[in-house]
Amino acid sequence: MTVYDYDLFVIGAGSGGVRAARMSAQFGARVAIAEEHRVGGTCVIRGCVPKKLLVYASRFGDAIEDAKGYGWALSAPHFDWARLRAAKDREIDRLEAIYVRNLEKTGVELIRSRATVVDAHTVKLASDDRTITADKILIATGGRPLMPPIEGIDQAITSNEVFDLGQLPRDIAIIGGGYIGAEFAGIFSGFGVNVTVIALEPALLWEFDTDLSMALSEEYRKRGITLRMDSQATAITKTGNGFTIHFKTGEPLTASLVMNATGRVPNTRGLGLEQAGVELGRNGHVKVDSYSKSNVDSIYAVGDVTDRMALTPVAIREGAAFAETVFNNTPTAVDHSLIPTAVFSEPEVAAIGLNEQQAREQYQDIDIYKSQFTPMLHSLTGRDQKMLMKLIVDGSSGKVLGCHIMGAGASEIIQTLAIAVRLGVTKKDLDATMALHPSAAEELVLMREKWQPADSVAAE
Ligand code: FAD
Repeated sequence: MTVYDYDLFVIGAGSGGVRAARMSAQFGARVAIAEEHRVGGTCVIRGCVPKKLLVYASRFGDAIEDAKGYGWALSAPHFDWARLRAAKDREIDRLEAIYVRNLEKTGVELIRSRATVVDAHTVKLASDDRTITADKILIATGGRPLMPPIEGIDQAITSNEVFDLGQLPRDIAIIGGGYIGAEFAGIFSGFGVNVTVIALEPALLWEFDTDLSMALSEEYRKRGITLRMDSQATAITKTGNGFTIHFKTGEPLTASLVMNATGRVPNTRGLGLEQAGVELGRNGHVKVDSYSKSNVDSIYAVGDVTDRMALTPVAIREGAAFAETVFNNTPTAVDHSLIPTAVFSEPEVAAIGLNEQQAREQYQDIDIYKSQFTPMLHSLTGRDQKMLMKLIVDGSSGKVLGCHIMGAGASEIIQTLAIAVRLGVTKKDLDATMALHPSAAEELVLMREKWQPADSVAAE
């Protein structure tokens, strides 16, 4: 029997890798994990966590404005980016230390180095050229920003750099109208930066339900964010103190900073997977079965690198399922259906289940319920901001197929509703549920009128 240095070698100490390493060690495996940047991965270091801290920070400006409608008088508020950045850095350092401690506590060996795959049981460390053998190798290297074919795109920052800006720009052009573009447009605009979002699609968040996508775009326009939709940027050139963005058609645009938010791709470049015989998909993702195993028996992959659903809770679940399957003799497949998602734009957007377009493709008969209203908070603030709720219901069974919300607290509402949708909640169950008054979420159990195609949310 071959004796390996470790039972498991994990490449990448992010959400998926850390969970897999810790649980496998708790099941008795001898585990090492390599990390080339910082422990915690994208989510903790330059993703969900610092992003949400910036979202919170960016919302205080509106809250201070809104307070006036409720009788508060506040002297001119001042925002200090450097102080926020320092506070955010302290929090990220604290979280990273917890991640490291938790690995140590479970006996996982942390190796701070880039690692690449040599063959089915061997990895190589960049730090000292050492090779290490393991019975199983887990690829948990996450994703990286996509670099679109725009001349000069390397002059744009990405979400990797945005958290550490020395100072806030006067204006910013964000290329990409997906969730990262929409979130940073909201954040920068909340800090008083002039924002332009450039996207190929007709509206922001084009992969979401079209009503939400249109409604968020409208809210952003009202906030003074310029949307240059249906636009293809072709080149970025340096000009004076800033940049000029050139388009396939239309006038060029100048901005003091450009952010590339055109998407993320699986991080497999230069990892040595092809030479180890691991099959990769079209955009470089590791192809895996429902137990996260690649076509090579000893090599598994979890998280963003597998291109299933690029979200932290999904990577964590996949890491846990891997450990259960391989080191606890309990084959566990992750169910990737009905995953709630949120975009921390201003206002927030969140969804569970099918959107209207998808439901129409999959079901013969669907009923739509929609409600758009001004949240009670704004009855005294004078702020023109709407909330939108939409339910997609199977006309024959009455089952709720999808729920889509734009408005304050949308992410919190959807997380709770996700439990009911998962349990097969019907429209009748929602109707029978007592409303909690006064709340925005009560609208979900009060919608009675089916929406007719002649109606239009935009017209309300
Ligand atoms: P990662 O967390 O990316 O970890 C991979 C790790 O591998 C990294 O630390 C990397 O340095 C390391 N690595 C890569 N190659 C090597 C190598 N060869 N050797 C050693 N180490 C290596 N998800 C949500 O659920 N909610 C959100 O609100 C959210 N917001 C986001 C905001 C932004 C700006 C971004 C970019 C992402 C966001 N995500 C969010 C997505 C989330 O961060 C990812 O889905 C999650 O981090 C994936 O975890 P992972 O384990 O697959 O990879």
